[in-house]
Amino acid sequence: MVPVRFIADNMVGKLVKWLRFMGYDVLYPKTMNDSELLKLANSDGRLLLTRDKELTKFKDFNGLYIKSEKLDDQLSQVIAEFDLMANRLNLEFTRCPECNNLLETIDRSELEDKVPKGVQERQDRFWFCSGCDRYYWRGTHYDKIKKKLEDLKSFL
Ligand SMILES: [Zn+2]
Repeated sequence: MVPVRFIADNMVGKLVKWLRFMGYDVLYPKTMNDSELLKLANSDGRLLLTRDKELTKFKDFNGLYIKSEKLDDQLSQVIAEFDLMANRLNLEFTRCPECNNLLETIDRSELEDKVPKGVQERQDRFWFCSGCDRYYWRGTHYDKIKKKLEDLKSFL
């Protein structure tokens, strides 16, 4: 099964990060106008996530109008609409929440001083994004996100 891919307008930035965290490929071109967004969504086979009701009226619109301004509601809506939980809640850090690049696992010995020593001692798995030079590990932030997604899942 080909996983669903998204493109989002510039009003749902937080949602974008969360979907990427869940492993989904989400483009977030902040400066595109409506017709550019629609065109890229269709040429690239992506579902368009938008808070702009007008955008959904175009006949080549294929995606979802995001009803709420609140992240939890937005996540619930997208997850329910596209049945995302059914095919994935592994939270394996596959994709960078900041830039959408695929992450690579990195060995502790390659970290040097890029990650605080205390973290290096406590954690045993690390990920690196070559798109934006960020390092990731399963810290408190990760636990919070995982808990939130599990909570959302139990409400669906
Ligand atoms: Zn990145």
